[in-house]
Amino acid sequence: MPKTLIYLAHDNLNRHKGALKDADPKKHEVIFVESNRMLTGARWHRQRIFFLLSAARHFAESLRKEGFTVHYEKSRDTASGISKYADDYEAVIATAPSSYRLTKNLLDIGVKFVPNDFFLTSRETFSSWANSQKSLKMESFYRFQRERLNILMDDGEPVGGKWNFDEANRLPPPKLGHSWPSYPEHERDEIDREVIAEIESLDLVGRLTDRTWGTTREAALAQLDRFLKDSFRDFGPYEDAMTSESWALNHSLLSTYMNVGLITPDEIVAEALKRFKRGGISIASCEGFIRQIIGWREYINGLYWYFGNEYRDLNEFSSTRKLLPLFSDSSKTKMRCVSEIISQIEERSWVHHIPRLMVLSNLAALADVKPAEFLAWMREVFIDATDWVMVPNVIGMSLHADGGKMSTKPYVAGGAYISRMSNYCGSCAYNPKTRIQEDSCPFTTLYWHYMARNGERFKKNHRMFQQLSGLKKLSDLDATIKRGNEVIKGLEEGKI
Ligand SMILES: Cc1cc2nc3c(=O)[nH]c(=O)nc-3n(C[C@H](O)[C@H](O)[C@H](O)COP(=O)(O)OP(=O)(O)OC[C@H]3O[C@@H](n4cnc5c(N)ncnc54)[C@H](O)[C@@H]3O)c2cc1C
Ligand code: SF4
Repeated sequence: MPKTLIYLAHDNLNRHKGALKDADPKKHEVIFVESNRMLTGARWHRQRIFFLLSAARHFAESLRKEGFTVHYEKSRDTASGISKYADDYEAVIATAPSSYRLTKNLLDIGVKFVPNDFFLTSRETFSSWANSQKSLKMESFYRFQRERLNILMDDGEPVGGKWNFDEANRLPPPKLGHSWPSYPEHERDEIDREVIAEIESLDLVGRLTDRTWGTTREAALAQLDRFLKDSFRDFGPYEDAMTSESWALNHSLLSTYMNVGLITPDEIVAEALKRFKRGGISIASCEGFIRQIIGWREYINGLYWYFGNEYRDLNEFSSTRKLLPLFSDSSKTKMRCVSEIISQIEERSWVHHIPRLMVLSNLAALADVKPAEFLAWMREVFIDATDWVMVPNVIGMSLHADGGKMSTKPYVAGGAYISRMSNYCGSCAYNPKTRIQEDSCPFTTLYWHYMARNGERFKKNHRMFQQLSGLKKLSDLDATIKRGNEVIKGLEEGKI
C-alpha cells in the first residue's frame, strides 16, 4: 500500500507536533527540502544558515533512527523538491506553514495541511479575539490568554493581585561589576562540521566561530534548564537593560529553538511555572517571562495572519532611504551603542529585544529608512528570524509603518532613553544631552527631526501630545532640523 509523504519545513522539528504527531514509519515517509533560495536568496548570516541546516539534519537523523525513511532533497526550490517524489505516494501532507509564501507554494502543488499546533493560539482563536476588540492592544490579548489558558490565575484573579509588573521590570543595568550568568557553548559534532564545511563557499555575512547555538533538542532543553537555574530569578528587573558587560543579560535565548520547533511554548511555560512554584522567583520575573511567551509571541503570530500578506508592504511615512551602511558594518559608525550591537550581531546573529527595538529599529525609523529594506536586513541577520515574527515586529511595532494598526504610537526615542537603559553613552563620542552640536547624540537630534517631520500626522494622536508639546517649546528647532539633515547625510556616508 502506498505511503503518505510528510513534508517537514525547517521550522517543524518536533516529533509531537503538526504532521509528524501521528506519523508511523510503516505508513509515512518524510521529506526535507534544502532549497537554493534558502541558501542563496539573500546574504544570510552564517550562524543562521548553519543553525537551520544542521538542526534539520540532526532531526532527520533522529527520525531515521526511529525507523522512518527520510529523504533529504537539495533542490532549486521547495515545490520542485517535493514534486520529484509526490507521484510515488498516496498523498503529501505538511503542517500548515508559518509563512504566506510557503503556504501558497505548497497549495499550488496539492499538499494537504494538518493544523499548525506549534503555537498556543490557533489563527481562528486569535481572529475571533481580534474581531471582538476596538483596538488590538497586546495587554488585552495577554489578559485574554491568561484567563483562557488558566496561567498564573488564582480563582479568577491574577496571581500577585496584578496583571502586570512592568514597573518593577524596567530597571537600568546595575553598576559595573554585576555578576551576569555565563553563556552556553556547544561542542560541534560530525553533522555540524559537515554543514560548516558545505556553507564555507556561500556568499554569507557574519562570523561562525562563536558556539552559542546548539543544533539539537538536547541543546534546547539544556538552554531552558540553564535559563531556569541561572537567569529566571533576575529576568524581570533587567529585561530592558543593555550593558557592554553582558550580551545576553538574563534573557532566555529560547526563541531560536522555539521558532524551529525543537522546544515548544507549552513546555517552556510548564517548566517555568513549576520552577516558580518551588519558590525563590519573584512574581515580577515570572509574570514578565510568561507575558513574553503567551502574550507577545502569540500576539505577533496572530497579527501576522490577521493583517494579511499585504501588511509587509505598508510604508506610512513613504520612506525611501536605503539601508544605512552601518547596519552591515559596525566600523561605519562612531555611535557606541550601534557599533557594539552590530558587532554582537556579526558575532552571534542575536541581540535581545531592546537593542532590536530601541536602537536598531529606532535608528531606522528616525533616519526614515525604507521599511522593506530594513525588514529584509533584519530577516537576513537574526538567527531567530522568521517571516511571521519579523513582519509585525518591524512594520508595526518598530517602524509604525502601518500607521498605527498595531501600536497606537511609534516606539521612537532620543539618546536619553539609551543613556538611562545602558552603559554605552559614557564612552561614546557623542553627547546624549544635546541636539545641535557636532558631537550631539544622533538619536537625540534625529528624534526632534522626526517629530518636526511628522508632527502634523501625529496631531490627532493624544498619546503624542507630550512629545508634540516638547517640540513646540524647542527654541532651536531650525538649528535642530539643519543638524538633523547633516546627521542623516553623515549616516548615509558612514561618517557618523
Ligand atoms: C524589531 C524586532 C524584531 C524582532 N525579531 C524577532 C525575530 O525575528 N524572531 C523572534 O523570535 N523574535 C523577534 N523579536 C522579539 C524578541 O526580540 C526576541 O524574541 C527575543 O529577543 C529573543 O530572545 P530570547 O529568546 O532570549 O527572549 P526572552 O527575552 O527570553 O523572551 C522570551 C520569549 O518571548 C518571545 N517574545 C518576546 N517578545 C516577542 C516579540 N515581540 N515577538 C515575538 N516573540 C517575542 C520570544 O519567543 C522569546 O524567546 C523581535 C523584536 C523586535 C522589536
Ligand atoms: S550618546 Fe547617543 S550614540 Fe552614543 S551611545 Fe549614547 S545613545 Fe548611542
